[in-house]
Amino acid sequence: MSIEVSNLTKIFNGFTAVDDVNFQIETGELVALLGPSGSGKSTLLRMIAGLEIPDNGTIHLTGKETTSASPRDRNVGFVFQHYALFKHMTIYDNIAFGLKVRKAPKHEIAPRVSELLELVQLRGLEKRYPSQISGGQRQRVAVARALAARPNILLLDEPFGALDAKVREELRKWILQLHEQTQVTTLFVTHDQHEALEIAHKVFVMNKGKIEQEGTPAEIFDHPATPFVAEFVGENNFVEAEVVEPHTVRWGQFTFRVNGYPTGQKIRIYFRPNDVYVSSAPESGSVNARISKTRFKGALIELHLVIETDKQIIAHVPKGVAHSSGFTEGAEVFVQITEYHAFRNSEHTIDESLVTI
Ligand code: ADP
Ligand code: MG
Repeated sequence: MSIEVSNLTKIFNGFTAVDDVNFQIETGELVALLGPSGSGKSTLLRMIAGLEIPDNGTIHLTGKETTSASPRDRNVGFVFQHYALFKHMTIYDNIAFGLKVRKAPKHEIAPRVSELLELVQLRGLEKRYPSQISGGQRQRVAVARALAARPNILLLDEPFGALDAKVREELRKWILQLHEQTQVTTLFVTHDQHEALEIAHKVFVMNKGKIEQEGTPAEIFDHPATPFVAEFVGENNFVEAEVVEPHTVRWGQFTFRVNGYPTGQKIRIYFRPNDVYVSSAPESGSVNARISKTRFKGALIELHLVIETDKQIIAHVPKGVAHSSGFTEGAEVFVQITEYHAFRNSEHTIDESLVTI
């Protein structure tokens, strides 16, 4: 076990930023901590790094209790979103900095820096200054610097947050490669669901200081455990309705089957745009709809569907299907919802009932 936190809590002036968090991260894992701004991600990371002392709970790093150990004694590498490199130092000196501070013998520093430059694919740039390289390259230098002293754990706090989309995408691939090579246990903070789902073995979804769900990217995406996770990860339609008879929720002409809720229970049903099946001819169980608007989404076309004049849902269909089926604005179509998740309305920790129609 590389990171183990129990009942971890941090309160700032009466405000609970991190609220009784528990998790374990195995050695060599790459975990993403995903949540909106203000959900407590940085505070959690800073406690693990020793930059913030918890009000309650414990932290064990590689089996050792480190709850209030100094950052130096934790053997953790840290990269922030705006990790200012030392402007007056070359890339070489920036990477060597931690080694010099730790008084590593001179003859060890040069080969280690050279190895790190290779690892972060910046060989040849060692004599440049931070202002002479790109933003993406600077973040790679920051990662090299964090890895220089061979930490057991790497903590990355939105390391690509300030970069543009194209560079971020390249760096995601790069961090995956880097992790494969180094196998260092990594906790990667992001508010970007695509980033989290693409790079991590496991994702922790954080909301209001708590971890609402932990799972593989597929588990988080396909089986959201709470309404918050359903809304935060991926796109979703949601509708509010009521259990009208055992196991049955009706929303207009749609019928959803749900388990475990009493009659009269108010329910929120979530379904993804690509789980809305649209056809140009009626099929068993399909409901009439009209396309009020279409939007281009690259390989997909987004259809805004109006049902019974007052209900609106969004469907995503492959571009080829949209063209061949004549899914244009104003067209009459037929709709089925193939998969959905039901939650009791206005509750946040609830068992999920997933049923396919
Ligand atoms: P995130 O990284 O998910 O955006 P943070 O951990 O930075 O969230 O912050 C969580 C909450 O704690 C926010 O409401 C923030 O304002 C508050 N907070 C963070 N650090 C401090 C601090 N040093 N003093 C007071 N409040 C803080
Ligand atoms: Mg933050």
